Amino acid sequence: MTKVRQQIPIAKPWVGALELEAVKRPLLSGWLTQGPEVAAFEKEFADYVGAKYACAVSNCTTALHLALLAAGVQPGDQVITVSHSFIATANSIRYCGALPVFIDIEPNTFNVDPELIEKRINERTRAILCVHQIGMPCDLEKIVAIARRHHVAVIEDAACAVGSEILWDAAWEKIGRPRGDVACFSFHPRKLLTTGDGGMITTSNPEWDRKFRLWRQHSMSIPDTARHHAKQVVFESYLEAGYNYRMTDIQAAVGREQLKRLPEMIERRRSLVKRYAELAADIPGLVLPQEPAWARSNWQSYCVRLPRSCEQRVVMQKMLDEGIATKPGIMCAHREPAYQNQVWSCGEGCIPAKCIHLTESEKAQTQCILLPLFHEITEEDQVRVVDALRTACYR
Ligand SMILES: *Cc1c(COP(=O)(O)O)cnc(C)c1O
Repeated sequence: MTKVRQQIPIAKPWVGALELEAVKRPLLSGWLTQGPEVAAFEKEFADYVGAKYACAVSNCTTALHLALLAAGVQPGDQVITVSHSFIATANSIRYCGALPVFIDIEPNTFNVDPELIEKRINERTRAILCVHQIGMPCDLEKIVAIARRHHVAVIEDAACAVGSEILWDAAWEKIGRPRGDVACFSFHPRKLLTTGDGGMITTSNPEWDRKFRLWRQHSMSIPDTARHHAKQVVFESYLEAGYNYRMTDIQAAVGREQLKRLPEMIERRRSLVKRYAELAADIPGLVLPQEPAWARSNWQSYCVRLPRSCEQRVVMQKMLDEGIATKPGIMCAHREPAYQNQVWSCGEGCIPAKCIHLTESEKAQTQCILLPLFHEITEEDQVRVVDALRTACYR
């Protein structure tokens, strides 16, 4: 007879009584959407990451869209990015009518290889959209230097990277200051800090921050929050075709509690990752993730590269049979049906159907798996995960 064992999920948000208590404020206040809670969350978030301005939006996909618009990305432009990312990264470029130009990744960090960027820059390049993949900071210093030389904007897709740190001028600082022109964060439940859905855009550019605030609310000249307190009647106007990319006050109230818990979430993850590394050290051929000397990950996900002899799908199925959920390596947008019709390029002379320039991206997708990692995973569960992985690879 088989013993019934608890399933181990791939991820689980850490949310509880504090968030439940906090949502009572907006729910009972009569002001439910973008209002005082959003304003407070923005202020607290900006302080946390060390940014001058933070503008809350509905999710990171809309954040990326607005960031690219602020950078002036238009139909016919090109934006340099990676294929090896969640599909929203590349999609946001297409929303602007621009062409994503995909660069291959470094196999050990899963982030863009900065050495490959410069030869893909041409007169139509408008921005570099770099990703801090699964919380691991990309080589921002090199990327920003290249971008400044060519006068193109740097937009950081920091969807997964809240609380991640980078060494800059010999001091550690949070991702999101930002060192590029804009950083975009996600509060989807798959990330560390969650508001159900939600996003944040940070920048040092007051003009861009002003645009984000307009665009997220239909480009309304005088926001409802201001009209609400006015002593005189006010008529707003709509300056251009904006968007409804608002975060609600209910979400922001949750976000404020989550932000307070964030340091504890990161500390916990760092110790869980250390433990995984100890437990899995003896599995031959397994490649564990490593931080470069100048980066500290928030460990949004734990991505391991399987031994050469192991097949991803087989290992994942054997682990699932043991009640353990895993995920394949990060997707590659260029391999999806939505990207089959020449809507991307990998640079000069690229034939998308026969692309040979994204091999590290493709290998990372098919040779890696993500192991369960979340705040409340127990040490016994970690042992179970690693034992199941070892057996799946070698028995
Ligand atoms: C999750 C994610 C997004 C999208 O974030 P949403 O808030 O769900 O829109 C974008 N880019 C990356 C790298 C992500 O991981």
